[in-house]
Formats: sequence, C-alpha cells, structure tokens
Amino acid sequence: MRIDLHCHSTASDGTDTPAELVRNAAAAGLDVVALTDHDTTRGYAEAIAALPAGLTLVTGAELSCRFDGISMHMLAYLFDPEEPALLAERELVRDDRVPRARGMVAKLRELGVPVTWEQVARIAGDGSVGRPHVATALVELGVVSSVSDAFTPDWLADGGRAYVAKHETDPFEAIRLVKGAGGVTVFAHPAAAKRGLTVPDSAIAEMAAAGLDGIEVDHMDHDADARARLRGLAKELGLLTTGSSDYHGSRKTCVLGEYTTDPEVYGEITRRAFGAFPVPGAGGV
Ligand SMILES: [Zn+2]
Ligand SMILES: [Zn+2]
Repeated sequence: MRIDLHCHSTASDGTDTPAELVRNAAAAGLDVVALTDHDTTRGYAEAIAALPAGLTLVTGAELSCRFDGISMHMLAYLFDPEEPALLAERELVRDDRVPRARGMVAKLRELGVPVTWEQVARIAGDGSVGRPHVATALVELGVVSSVSDAFTPDWLADGGRAYVAKHETDPFEAIRLVKGAGGVTVFAHPAAAKRGLTVPDSAIAEMAAAGLDGIEVDHMDHDADARARLRGLAKELGLLTTGSSDYHGSRKTCVLGEYTTDPEVYGEITRRAFGAFPVPGAGGV
C-alpha cells in the first residue's frame, strides 16, 4: 500500500488541477493521496469528482503558522471543512495572501526587478497566490535560474530583501482548531532548515503535549541526520511519523510517492479523525 499524505494542486501553488493530481496519483501507483493545499479546501470537490477507482483521497490542508517569529506549516487531515472557527481562521490567512504578494512585488520593484503584479497574478491563475508564484516570476525574468534560487536572503527567503510577512496562525491555536473540527495535525517538514529558522525540539514537545498528532519525517528537505533525529524525537514524544512528497506538480522537482507513509500510521490517522472520512475512488471520470 503506497500512501502520500502531502500534495498541492492549482487550488494553491501546485501546477496540477485537483483532477489531474488524483489521476497522476493513480498513475504513479498510489493507493492513498492527500490533497493539502495551503490554507484552502476548495480543491476537494473537483478531486472527489475525478477520483479514479482504487485511489483513496484524504482531504486536508497545509496551514500557515508562526511560532515565536518562525514560519512553520501544519498539515491538517480529515477535518470538517465547514466547521466555522477553523474556516474563519483559514479565510483570515488566505485574505492576507494578495496584499502580501503585492508587497513582495513592490519590494522587488524597489530593488530594480521589473516584475509586475499582473505577471504574478497570471502565474497564480485561480490558485491562492503565494511566494512560489512570485519566485516563478523571478525565474521568468531571468533574475534567478530556479524557484528554489529565489528562496534566499537576497530575494524571498524569510527575512530576505523582498520578503513580506503574512498573517499566520499560532500553532497551538491551529492544533486546537483542527481538533475542534474533528481533524488530525502533523507538523510539516519540521527540520527544513533551508527554508529558514526551524522550531526548536522543546516547542515540538509543547505541541505534542497540546495534542499534536505527528511530525513529517521523510521529506525532500530533510537529510538522513535530520530524519534520524526526528524519528528519535517522535518516539520520545509519542508522535506519529509520516513521509510524503510535498508534490507541487512541475513547480518543484519532487514526484508523487517520492516518500510515503506507513499504512499503520495512516490507519491511526483515520482512526483519530472524526470530522471527515477518507473518500474511496468511485471510478469517476
Ligand atoms: Zn510546507
Ligand atoms: Zn506543502
């Protein structure tokens, strides 16, 4: 059984539509795929309608959080997408995305980069606009050679010259809200140091005590040492460990199913959730 619990679609900053994502997941030989767009659930309906027979969809989202000034991502699974308190928080974060992206464009223009808001909006299409779209504009303009080269202190990394902070949820609040909506939380890529500062282990311990369910261990941004350290920490704290591709279509280099989650861990996630159930493929289009 092959299970990939972290994937993005055009509902946020992936390049596959939700329908393409589930078809590609089936073609990649996955049995279970999670749709975890940034701060939105609006890809669900399309993914469910297109779900191929034999593939199970785990509905989810990747919530933008901030702990002690450090940006971090919290994966949330199988929560009720209509639950009002969590919905309101997602909207608060998402409504901040456009002013933030516009702010990054303004800073880049001050730095002499001829990027325009129209260009970034075109790249984002109908997805919720974010930093990877601004980074893609920098690649189009030849300022950097790849999206990841834009995530440096010179450009768009946290605290970088063209960086603009956004509204992000307190992770303890995120854990509480997701639980309140019947879902399960997994701290995404907690040791992804190249994205900026990471949250200390002591804070992960506090989150575990506050009801965090798991941490993502097998991820492209974690080297072997980081994975070993995180596995030890999870064991110590009684946390589940997951593995996932963080697939973004062609925007990033990872492929579907590049890393996967143990079926027993997946089973435990579904047992803990009571807000929504995984959706089995019904042999749709
Ligand atoms: Zn993330
Ligand atoms: Zn992600």
